[in-house]
Amino acid sequence: MQLVHAITEDRGDYTYVIYNYYTGEVKEVRVDPDKIALYEDRSSLDNLPEACPFLRFDQENGKAWCTVHLTRPSICRDYCCWRLLILDAEGRRAGRVLYQRTFLSDSAALGRLWEQVKPTLNGLDDKEWDDVVISMLMASGYHVRR
Ligand code: SF4
Repeated sequence: MQLVHAITEDRGDYTYVIYNYYTGEVKEVRVDPDKIALYEDRSSLDNLPEACPFLRFDQENGKAWCTVHLTRPSICRDYCCWRLLILDAEGRRAGRVLYQRTFLSDSAALGRLWEQVKPTLNGLDDKEWDDVVISMLMASGYHVRR
């Protein structure tokens, strides 16, 4: 998620109040006890200043963690974490793009579309990649939320 959650208050002891720009939800979250060391290491977000402040990522292994998983906001419980959220024509989650270019599809149809498009994306910079992927998705009837 980019520019979705902002920390509005630090209540100490790894407890924060966050504001969701989409829904207006205000929620107190707390870093999971087993993820404090992970939370303290912000290096995986060095190039993603607008990412959710609680996301941590292992680019090498393609793994991501929500460090407030136990108390995460309701929108995250409904849709999980995303940078680009892909919805089908009925508004159901069809897939997600996580971190910079990790594409996760929830349906076979979107998976097939992605396999066709993926080879055409080589050599694009991040903005071009987003533009092409979003255009491709919208042309195929999906909606994309950033
Ligand atoms: S699931 Fe966790 S990391 Fe992802 S947007 Fe929500 S709070 Fe942030």
